Amino acid sequence: MFIVDAHLDLAMNALEWNRDLTRPIEEIRAREQAWVDKPDRGRGTVSFPEMRRGGVGLCVATQIARYVALDNPLPGWHSPEQAWATTQGQLAWYRAMEERGELLQIRDRDALDRHVERWQDGDGGDAPIGYVLSLEGADSVVTLPHLERAYAQGLRAIGPAHYGPGVYAQGTNACGDLGAPGRELLQEMDRLGIILDVTHLCDDSFRDALDHFRGPVWASHSNCRSLVAHNRQFSDDQIKELIQRGAVIGSAFDAWMLVPGWVRGETTPDGAGVSLQTVADHIDHICQIAGNARHCGIGSDLDGGFGREQCPSDVHTIADLSRLPGLLAERGYAPEDVAQIAHGNFIRFLREAWARPRS
Ligand SMILES: [Zn+2]
Repeated sequence: MFIVDAHLDLAMNALEWNRDLTRPIEEIRAREQAWVDKPDRGRGTVSFPEMRRGGVGLCVATQIARYVALDNPLPGWHSPEQAWATTQGQLAWYRAMEERGELLQIRDRDALDRHVERWQDGDGGDAPIGYVLSLEGADSVVTLPHLERAYAQGLRAIGPAHYGPGVYAQGTNACGDLGAPGRELLQEMDRLGIILDVTHLCDDSFRDALDHFRGPVWASHSNCRSLVAHNRQFSDDQIKELIQRGAVIGSAFDAWMLVPGWVRGETTPDGAGVSLQTVADHIDHICQIAGNARHCGIGSDLDGGFGREQCPSDVHTIADLSRLPGLLAERGYAPEDVAQIAHGNFIRFLREAWARPRS
């Protein structure tokens, strides 16, 4: 089945993890065996061949670079300009992958429709994998004219914050409203037609963002707080509000967001009993709140700084996303609902977002 994955950090993996995603996953892992700089070394799950094997023909792929002020202990660049330059390097890698025919940037409705046509049965043949360009954490947007430049480069969605305090919004584990810069950013996003990704917004900034943004809203990679209590997750009330706004919520595959009590570096996927069924539990929770299957999708984040040591035990590579539709069908989901979750909801969302008249 054709799968849409609404959150992958492909360029970050290429440039910060030094992974050539065009290569077989076994080769990528083997070259990292002796490396210890990242917890997921030798255990990555994402490569282009594995995406193709799983029918993942369209993804939302990020640019990501954090700016940290003097008092921010998180890792990051010491100026927004350095962060901007990093995202531009990431864009250069996406362009190089387009030149190789590996990727195709999808930036409007016509291109989306043509691409879906080629991939609709989950086998794109020799078609490239489509990607919608997104920015995770907006710190790298130095000024609003930079945002206009980014839009011209194909940027179509922004999550204003990532972990910690940000220039435009407060993220996971932080607190506080957007402030004036964040509201101006949202206004400009609205004018340009850029999707607001509410994933990673802290509760205050989530509230503030939904109050000030009129355009399309999604949550690219978020799970349920009532199943795993953490501020990174959405409460049932937040999920209800997102449903009212027509959002689609992509389920994330990071194990600590799937089962309670995960201790990084200690808990194992087998030990915690975390599997694709656990992902289905989060999807089902949202569907039960909505009363339908129109607001769920996949936003695996499978290359978001973790590998097999911290993902569902039955996910060996991203190709295993293809097994999720079968699990949902076994739970009694109708074929059309399974297809909506696998790809249809995010495609519908993008078609509507890109058809809407600009303010
Ligand atoms: Zn993230």
